[in-house]
Amino acid sequence: MFHKVLIANRGEIAVRIIRACRELGIGTVAVYSEADRDAMHTRLADEAVCIGPAAGKLSYLNIPAIMAAAEITDTEAIHPGYGFLAENADFAQIVIESGYTWIGPSPESMRIMGDKVSAKIAMEHAGVPLVPGSKGAVKTVEEAQRVAKEAGFPVIVKASAGGGGRGMKVVHSEPALPAAFSMCKTEAGAAFGDDTVFIEKYLEVPRHIEVQVLGDKHGNIVHLFERECSMQRNNQKVLEEAPSAFVTEETRAAICAAGVAAAKAVDYIGAGTIEFLMNPDQSFYFIEMNTRIQVEHPVTEWITGVDLIEWQIRVAAGEKLGFNQEKIKMKGHAIECRINAEHPFKFTPSPGKIDLYHAPGGRSVRVDSAVYTGYTIPPYYDSMIGKVITHARDRQKCIRRMQRAIDELVITGVTTNRELHQRLLANPAFQAGDFNIHFLEKWLKQIHI
Ligand code: ADP
Repeated sequence: MFHKVLIANRGEIAVRIIRACRELGIGTVAVYSEADRDAMHTRLADEAVCIGPAAGKLSYLNIPAIMAAAEITDTEAIHPGYGFLAENADFAQIVIESGYTWIGPSPESMRIMGDKVSAKIAMEHAGVPLVPGSKGAVKTVEEAQRVAKEAGFPVIVKASAGGGGRGMKVVHSEPALPAAFSMCKTEAGAAFGDDTVFIEKYLEVPRHIEVQVLGDKHGNIVHLFERECSMQRNNQKVLEEAPSAFVTEETRAAICAAGVAAAKAVDYIGAGTIEFLMNPDQSFYFIEMNTRIQVEHPVTEWITGVDLIEWQIRVAAGEKLGFNQEKIKMKGHAIECRINAEHPFKFTPSPGKIDLYHAPGGRSVRVDSAVYTGYTIPPYYDSMIGKVITHARDRQKCIRRMQRAIDELVITGVTTNRELHQRLLANPAFQAGDFNIHFLEKWLKQIHI
């Protein structure tokens, strides 16, 4: 096992990784920006190295500074967390070529999956269902028109290099296609330095269902069931669950098998997530793979009992997975609410000093956060400051437990989205499991004050 791991991240995920390392007896190195001197991850790690000014570009995305921190601390391996450099294949390659272990998949798997067109080609070969649309890139307006007619409107034009919900355009009818196609191509070139675009049929009322996978360096790949992530606003997940209340046993077996096939196709190592869109008839289609740990990993940890961060580290160190597919059983239901420092309905960020922080506790409540009383949330980063996760025998009990946990949560001094969760958890459609990816935005329009 490693003697020391550097965590190239901040916030709750850096804290989560430090905790896992400590339980494994591994020393930890935090890197921090000038704005994060008093951050929880800076305080909790065994060692901490300042890597630059507040702006992410100059610190958490500053590869030379991170590599220098690894060098002076005698680090053995680097964990990238999520966001920042986690899906940057060039960074992974630099880490490996500098003689450190990268806690994640190979740069090659990251490159294939990081490009949506090459990912779709690999998935087609692996027999994973794809959203109907173009075979690979679409180069001309004429080709776009032909593909769109074949798939049937509405369609979505997507940038191959897109991410984080950017670089996509929905087109409802043929006359609107040429302009949308050109605009998407131009914008993709400007935003991602790659103007490759492709076309998919736009699914009108899908759910977002994703499959967690875990692979080791000995060719073993398992799935850890699915997560329901349809509660989204601006392509940002707000609340996640495992398992999905909508997915039948038969569909579960099929989508999880597709997840494993997807991971096998790129010789995947470590923790990864295959995202699918699912129609009301339970037909499902691959949209992309995230080659990193995800924010919502705790719901999967809770229903399976598998510590995903621990296993990311173990497989990176060369260990075999300690279980096979048959050993992984699903127990009960888990929900995660993301706690953001922002207005609950207007979504304006609310950085500043936390006067009082009281985390909920009690049976089957987990809080992964990076804040404390007296902490000042800097304005430079993501507004997510923590996550409340609950587990129970069934979904209904889990919702009740989350309601009481969210009621117990106290954060004063800054505004949080606590009230959004309170209202959402009480919503009859949410409680009935009757929603798709458009539900939250539609509901917000109705309740907007
Ligand atoms: P990103 O990498 O930017 O997250 P994705 O391909 O994962 O892009 O898509 C993000 C979101 O966009 C999906 O969760 C879904 O809400 C919507 N979306 C993407 N493709 C389609 C599609 N073919 N039909 C309907 N919605 C889609």
